[in-house]
Amino acid sequence: MRIGRFRRILFPPRCGACDQVLSPDEEGFCRWCNDLVIRVTKNCCVKCGRTLTDETRALCDDCRSKKHLFSEGRSVYVYDGPMREAMYRFKYSGRYSAAEAYARDALDLWGSWFEGMGFDMIVPVPMYPAKERRRGFNQAGVFAKALSAETGIPVREALERVRKTPPMKGLSPEERRKNLKNAFQADDFVVKSKKVLMCDDIYTTGATMDAATGALLGAGAVKVCGIFICTGE
Ligand SMILES: [Zn+2]
Ligand SMILES: [Zn+2]
Repeated sequence: MRIGRFRRILFPPRCGACDQVLSPDEEGFCRWCNDLVIRVTKNCCVKCGRTLTDETRALCDDCRSKKHLFSEGRSVYVYDGPMREAMYRFKYSGRYSAAEAYARDALDLWGSWFEGMGFDMIVPVPMYPAKERRRGFNQAGVFAKALSAETGIPVREALERVRKTPPMKGLSPEERRKNLKNAFQADDFVVKSKKVLMCDDIYTTGATMDAATGALLGAGAVKVCGIFICTGE
């Protein structure tokens, strides 16, 4: 769907990364950032969607050494270059036009994956409620809405963060896992017997996805996958 002309005049779309106003032939990113953004290719880990360093293998090093609870995860961009700034900006602005561009790219890249999976709902990874109230939005929720508009799959806020968790930055994978133990609770009335697509901004160790997946499967979901704006390397 093209952005409406009047909306474009009133709220000129800006580059998701450097925040410059976009010219009419640019979408999502300005031409400079667009050249530097690294899009994930089909040559990624079949389990978590991370870019493969050894392309002769189907799984990345992490997925070969560790069993994840979720079925499959896919990302749109590599968390590097302009996407670092873009993700910082998105986290604190929650700008919907940026989310729309990410959702369109997600569908361009993974449209047939979406179709094949037959998801019943999109569930954003929740923030702790007090934190979300302070910020006014949850960036994963903004991405979820844009994905829903592109795919027609409804968004369900079926997960709740019931425990406040300290920031994960600088923690080892094992520490992250411990940090997130029992952090999520799923609504079994909503997810029972359903195929769930979770979404989040950045995929790093998979600890958040595994903890959230555990809660969803415990509540009766039959399958849990993930779609992320960016994947770490
Ligand atoms: Zn730019
Ligand atoms: Zn992997």
